[in-house]
Amino acid sequence: MPDRAPPDTPPTPRGKSGPQRALDKLGLVRDVDLALHLPLRYEDETRVVPIAQARPGATVQVEGVVRDSRVEARARRQLVVRLADAGGEFVLRFLHFYPAQQKALAVGRRLRVRGEVRGGLFGREMVHPTVRVVDDETPLPSALTPVYPTTAALPQAYLRKAVAGALHRAPLDELWPEATRRAEWPPGLPPLREALAFLHHPPPGAPLAQLDDRSHPAWRRLKFDELLAQQLSQLMARRERAALAAPVLRAAPGGLPERLLAALPFALTAAQRRVADEIAADLARAQPMHRLLQGDVGSGKTVVAALAAAVAIDAGWQCALMAPTEILAEQHFGKLVQWLEPLGVEVAWLAGSRRGRARQERLARIASGQVRLVVGTHAVIQHDVAFARLGLAIVDEQHRFGVAQRLALRRKLDDAAPADTPGERLEPHLLMMSATPIPRTLAMTYYADLAVSTIDELPPGRTPVVTKVFADTRRDDVIARIRDEVAHGRQVYWVCPLVEESEHVDLRHATETHAQLAAAMPAVMVGLLHGRMPAAEKAAAMSLFTGGQMAVLVATTVIEVGVDVPNASLMVVEHAERFGLAQLHQLRGRVGRGAVASVCVLLYTPPLSQTGKQRLRAMAETTDGFEIARRDLAIRGPGEFMGARQSGDALLRFADLAADEPLLQQARRAAPRLLDADPAAARAHVQRWLGARHDYLKA
Ligand code: ADP
Ligand code: MG
Repeated sequence: MPDRAPPDTPPTPRGKSGPQRALDKLGLVRDVDLALHLPLRYEDETRVVPIAQARPGATVQVEGVVRDSRVEARARRQLVVRLADAGGEFVLRFLHFYPAQQKALAVGRRLRVRGEVRGGLFGREMVHPTVRVVDDETPLPSALTPVYPTTAALPQAYLRKAVAGALHRAPLDELWPEATRRAEWPPGLPPLREALAFLHHPPPGAPLAQLDDRSHPAWRRLKFDELLAQQLSQLMARRERAALAAPVLRAAPGGLPERLLAALPFALTAAQRRVADEIAADLARAQPMHRLLQGDVGSGKTVVAALAAAVAIDAGWQCALMAPTEILAEQHFGKLVQWLEPLGVEVAWLAGSRRGRARQERLARIASGQVRLVVGTHAVIQHDVAFARLGLAIVDEQHRFGVAQRLALRRKLDDAAPADTPGERLEPHLLMMSATPIPRTLAMTYYADLAVSTIDELPPGRTPVVTKVFADTRRDDVIARIRDEVAHGRQVYWVCPLVEESEHVDLRHATETHAQLAAAMPAVMVGLLHGRMPAAEKAAAMSLFTGGQMAVLVATTVIEVGVDVPNASLMVVEHAERFGLAQLHQLRGRVGRGAVASVCVLLYTPPLSQTGKQRLRAMAETTDGFEIARRDLAIRGPGEFMGARQSGDALLRFADLAADEPLLQQARRAAPRLLDADPAAARAHVQRWLGARHDYLKA
């Protein structure tokens, strides 16, 4: 007989019960979702200890009969129950209780209780133990009791029942025949159904340490299946893409790309030439390109993007270039206009959501095909933007776009390209760019589907930046250094942090710093640049700095990706501890662009957190963007690294990319063979493990 109303009251006809809604919220919708919701830990309720042997400090289960039950009014009202078995007796103490509970714990009742034994003033006792009213015949559970991750709205007991039921119903049969499993799965792993039954309800004496560190074969089975699902999902996306037709984009001899190269004020580096060739080779194929161009800050990715655009345009198609922020998009727009308009290419700007006649006209010129290149933010892929012949999409800093935007881009690409001949749909090519190289394990998993080109060389004439880390108590020394730089005709950036939640605080901070520096250097032009300024003022400040009249520019991080002033030789970053490593690296990339030796000063306000220390040390120790990315990953873990992608819930739940690399390797080898052997089983496997997340992984 239960001691309280059964927690698993069925849903009311009017709608879902609270716990039911809580299940939905946790994403526990299908039986298989529940079956894959694994315990955090276990409680051993399989044994009963004689009360006489229940030592203080131990958490045990005992069973006995209530000898006495009364409410005592001590410092506070409490229910005190004396429980006895054949050899001993102790007290159960309840500081909160309901009348119904008091009734359930009446004299003569047999109770099974579990809790920590304390050595109280009046002998041993348990405070608020878990209580079950039983009779002589109530069997002890034969397995450990799972404790699941849950929320306040979802009682543990309800969840246990739900999982146990789902575990029976869920379709967990093996999807591949025994022989295939023996060939492709790591040896010694149990069938899935068995593995899950074990993990939810391990027998007494199960090796808890192996369950805890997930090295048990049952765990390894889950991890392998999960990694396999992820690999299959990527592989299927790649094959789907390979089956699509794309326009063949090839520039004519003497065409736009060659004319662009001839007009540039510099020659390409060998690395730029190599990646430009790799991209051109992809564009000339009738399958959609899916390539990542990676290269450190300042390595010159923009001109490579411009060349790719020139190929598409020369072949008679349109190109779209999208960047995650307006500032960055604006910088690209400026460069591309400067490079391509003299060659007769019409370039259009699309950003923000402002409607109006100008935008309507622009959209019309895009739809008619007159505009050959569209540059902007994600506004470029809004549904009212229709291209006449989109042949190539370029996405800068692609990892900074959210999942929703990536899916929108995918949809846009799916319906952007018109048929060249009736009945045939052509998918545009896709080029992504990033200054943050993808770590190797991620490259093998989430980006397995991506071809990668790397610019591993900076343009000539750059001098390495020396980085110094100071506490902000040395501000006056830093200002003296600024005076010195300016006296030598050089320029200086002073960057103030941006805390997204409180833009006005940042603004005040930047304004105060500006006033302080202006007062300290009355003869010097000190400017201010922040995100809230009207566009015209921003442009005016920027052009004074670019033109060299303004010596010191105080800015919020708007300059992160915005400017290219070779004469700037000193960068001061205030509250450097608040910036991410990738961001600091981007900022530092603004100096060291000319022939003068440059310095980056990172000012911090003590005390530094552990990770803050690690970040600043990494900055001081290396200027190599790849090494920075590697350390960033080590400090933050892959989850954070993936940033927005994580919100698609796409990350692995069971496997750990670092710890389970051997399993990952094996899954990677098995995936193509399994997909070839039985595509339907492969699809069922992906569906079982990823469900809707399959789509996110494709984006
Ligand atoms: P990122 O890879 O960080 O996007 P950019 O494309 O902004 O780098 O290039 C950084 C700067 O280097 C720009 O001013 C660009 O015009 C210049 N640049 C690019 N390629 C070369 C080159 N081969 N020689 C000299 N300067 C170059
Ligand atoms: Mg760039």
